[in-house]
Amino acid sequence: MKEDYYKVLGIDKGASESEIKKAYRKSAIKYHPDKNPGDKDAEAKFKQAAEAYEVLGNSDKRAKYDQFGHAAFEGAGGFGSGGMNMDDIFSQFGDIFGSAFGGGFGGFGGGQRRSKGTNLRIKVSLTISEIANGVNKKIKVKRKVQAPGTEFSTCSQCGGSGQVTQITNTILGRMQSTTTCNVCSGTGKIVSRKAPGSDSNGQILSEETVEVKIPAGVEDGMQLRVSGKGNEALSDGIPGDLLVLINELPDENLKREGNNLHYDLYISISEAVLGISKEINTVSGKVRIKLDAGIQSGKILRLRGKGLKSINGYGNGDLLVHVNVWTPKTLNKEQREFFQQMKNNEHFTPNPDKNDKSFFEKVKDMFS
Ligand SMILES: [Zn+2]
Repeated sequence: MKEDYYKVLGIDKGASESEIKKAYRKSAIKYHPDKNPGDKDAEAKFKQAAEAYEVLGNSDKRAKYDQFGHAAFEGAGGFGSGGMNMDDIFSQFGDIFGSAFGGGFGGFGGGQRRSKGTNLRIKVSLTISEIANGVNKKIKVKRKVQAPGTEFSTCSQCGGSGQVTQITNTILGRMQSTTTCNVCSGTGKIVSRKAPGSDSNGQILSEETVEVKIPAGVEDGMQLRVSGKGNEALSDGIPGDLLVLINELPDENLKREGNNLHYDLYISISEAVLGISKEINTVSGKVRIKLDAGIQSGKILRLRGKGLKSINGYGNGDLLVHVNVWTPKTLNKEQREFFQQMKNNEHFTPNPDKNDKSFFEKVKDMFS
């Protein structure tokens, strides 16, 4: 069971942006690996705090977390079981402690950090029914990979360590910090022989197909993370990630509102008067619904569980069918005569009782 992010940072749910930042800064200083060498417990707490800040420090992610909890970042996206890696954490420090800490800041235990490839971002467009059922998408990506035949030699600037050590005055006092070597970008190696067609880093673009499992119930703007499918690192580092941004395509018939779906059903005056059974396409197949004789325009029928699956796995949304009675725009002679006759018929005079609630009362019911 993962601990609540607010608890991790020791703040309450209503905390302001600056309170969150302050709380994270405090934890990061307390549990920083340079201050707690070899302490696995501190390292775990350090990572946990960074992960909590990664979410709560971003208003979009925070809103999703408040709504869905940890489930919002699980599955194909999110942090996986290993949590954030140290490179992610240190790159996050730039905006917390100022640029002095961006990049370097001690690295992890002072040893050589493996370099990481850059992330790739791609947008994937999904229909409502793909979102409803979840889908495996094959996505074409162009990622940078090491060209075969590239040769490397040790970087002379840093002697292969990838880092340059310096003393800096920081808010933590006088600290020895290491920055990434700017000649080899921290890899400790430089390209000594390029393969034909490769760039100055010895890389080429490779078009690959990545299969991404998209869980049911995702929302427009959500981002899934596929580990290791971004650009490869220079020399032997860790590849970056592929970030998949969800783009929800508008549907002709269904309008989404959270996990609920709205559908406009049009029936004729005769159907409204006589009653009718209608077949409706839902995201989980066809459903037949019965409309009683005398149904009013504006009536909303709620089909429970026929909406979208919730991303956290429990509770489906509903399908709300809005009944619209279609008034004919033109009439022939006989039809006109029929309606003329009915004009003063008391059966045709509106006489709503309290069951025929107004639209506003229905809407109020729906959200209460
Ligand atoms: Zn170097």
